[in-house]
Amino acid sequence: MLGPVLLAAARSDSIRRLVSAAPVTRPMVDRFVAGEQLDHCLRAVRSLADRGMEVTIDHLGEDITDRSEAVRNRDAYLALTDALASSGLAEHAEMSVKLSAFGQALPGGHDVAYDNVLPVVEAATAAGTTVTLDMEDHTTVDSTLAILADLRRRFPGTGAVLQSYLFRTEEDCHTLAGEGSRVRLVKGAYNEPAHVAHQDKHEVDKAYVRCLKILMAGKGYPMVGSHDPRMVAIAQELAGRYGRKQDEYEFQMLYGIRTGEHERLVAEGHRMRVYIPYGTDWYGYFMRRLAERPANMAFFLRSLVTR
Ligand code: FAD
Repeated sequence: MLGPVLLAAARSDSIRRLVSAAPVTRPMVDRFVAGEQLDHCLRAVRSLADRGMEVTIDHLGEDITDRSEAVRNRDAYLALTDALASSGLAEHAEMSVKLSAFGQALPGGHDVAYDNVLPVVEAATAAGTTVTLDMEDHTTVDSTLAILADLRRRFPGTGAVLQSYLFRTEEDCHTLAGEGSRVRLVKGAYNEPAHVAHQDKHEVDKAYVRCLKILMAGKGYPMVGSHDPRMVAIAQELAGRYGRKQDEYEFQMLYGIRTGEHERLVAEGHRMRVYIPYGTDWYGYFMRRLAERPANMAFFLRSLVTR
C-alpha cells in the first residue's frame, strides 16, 4: 500500500519541500545519488571503472515547467559529455536521459524534447558514447518511442527502456528486438493505473520473463535492468539458450543497490553497467527508490522519529 502513496508524493511539491528540509534525508539520498556536482559524478564513474564496471549517467531532473529549464538540462548533459571526453571516461560511460527534463510535458513538448535531446545525442556520438532514453509514466511512451525512432535513423546506437508492468510492452519488445537495437528492460517504477499495467508483482515478474525471452531471442542488444536475483539467473539461462556470448547483452543495476551483486557479475565475466544519478534535483528519483522497497521507507521513518 505504501508504494503508491510514495509514488504520488514523488510528484507533490509540498511533500518535496518537507522531505528535502529534513536533516535525516541527506545520508539516505547519498546512498542512491553520487553527489550534486559533476565532479562527484566523475569520481564515482572512475571508481566503478577501476573495478571493471561500465556506467550510464543520469543528470537528475524531470517534470520541468518551462523551456529555460529544458535548455539548462540540455546544457548540463553537454557539459557532462565534454567532461567524459576530456577525462578519457567516455569509453566506460554512456548517458541516460529523461525526456520530461527536456520539455516533453510542456505545450508542444514532443518537438521541444526532440530539439533539446538531439544536440546531446550528436555530442555523445562525437565523443564516442551513446544515450539511452529512460522511460517515464505510460502517457509518455508513444512520444518517447517516436523520438527514439527519429534519433535512431541518424544515431542507431541510441537506446530505449521498456517496462514489463505495461500491457503493451511485449509488443514493443517485438518492435525493438531488431538488429542494432539497444533495449534496457525494467519492471517499471511509476504509479500506473490498472487499465494499462499489471498491478500484481507476480504478474509483472512473469511479464518481465516473457519480454526478456523476446529480446534475448532477437537480434538487438538486451540490457537487463533488474536487481532481482531470479531475473538475473533467468537472463543468464536465456542468453545461453539463444547462443549469446557475454558481450552480446549486459546487466544494469542502480548505484547503491545490491552492490555485492555488481561485483559478483563482473567477477563472472559479465558486462555490468551501473546507473549513476547525480545533481540537485534528486527528490523524484529518491522517492521512487523508497517506494520500491518498504524497508527503505521504514528505515527513513525510523530515522525521522528517533532523532
Ligand atoms: P524488485 O523485485 O523490485 O527488487 C528485487 C530486489 O532488488 C529486492 O528484493 C531488493 O533486494 C533489491 N531492490 C530493488 N529496488 C531496491 C531499492 N530501491 N532499494 C533497495 N533494494 C532494492 N524504471 C522506469 O520506470 N524507467 C526507467 O527508465 C528505469 N531505468 C532503470 C535503470 C536501471 C539500470 C535499473 C536497474 C532500474 C531502472 N528502473 C526504471 C527501475 C525499475 O523499473 C524498478 O523499479 C527497479 O529496478 C526495481 O525492480 P527490480 O527489477 O530490481 O526488482
